[in-house]
Amino acid sequence: DRTPSAYRRVMLKISGEALMGDQGYGLHPPTVARIAQEVKAVHDMGAEICMVIGGGNIFRGLAGSAQGMERTTADYMGMLATVMNALGMQSQLEALGIHTRVISAIPMDQVCEPYIRRRAVRHLEKKRVCIFAAGTGNPYFTTDTAATLRASEMGCEAVFKGTKVDGVYDKDPNKFDDAKRYDTVSYDEALEKNLGVMDATAIALARDNKLPIIVFSLDAPGGFRSILAGEGTYTRVA
Ligand code: UDP
Repeated sequence: DRTPSAYRRVMLKISGEALMGDQGYGLHPPTVARIAQEVKAVHDMGAEICMVIGGGNIFRGLAGSAQGMERTTADYMGMLATVMNALGMQSQLEALGIHTRVISAIPMDQVCEPYIRRRAVRHLEKKRVCIFAAGTGNPYFTTDTAATLRASEMGCEAVFKGTKVDGVYDKDPNKFDDAKRYDTVSYDEALEKNLGVMDATAIALARDNKLPIIVFSLDAPGGFRSILAGEGTYTRVA
């Protein structure tokens, strides 16, 4: 496929839950492999790719603290969960022949690289997929914020948030037949109406850095590729 990408450098954010398949918990390697294929299709178009993967399929800090754990410790556990997901994705991408680096906000040298901005930029220039792990490295943040932060630092043109639906709706499209998809939404509207695009910290950071957020479906095969080719349905938050 020689269709050029409409974007030079992109950030793909997916939740940890996107990796669990029908299992209800953890990583489902065939599902990770399917998403890796979606990433490969975009890599083949020549786009430089950053990724952030959440950790909610393994552990969420808030859930731990609701059950009596100290919040910051629980958040560190959540960040470690994202490293496991990143390694799972790296393994499937490299099986497809794509050079990939896992870059952690919390150094763990035997497992992956520490985050050094200039080094990450160099990897991207060499067309290596960079998976940014361990979130921002700070408790009380989310991986949505990490995706927006790293996208800003790497000079990505947009954050692509892969979800189960093809955009942002005024109400849950799985529950309401008359739910309406937005083509575009402003950052402020997404915040005011609490449209569930990303958490408020992430949206505000995107707004302040003029970084568009594109919400699309990762379930449709070839969906990520078609959006980068300028086709398909999605919601653009800008
Ligand atoms: N986390 C954190 N700081 C960050 C990113 C993540 O403390 O910068 C923790 C937090 O506890 C969160 C967990 O890691 O619940 C998993 O991330 P997230 O909930 O964003 O994953 P997702 O919902 O996207 O799967």
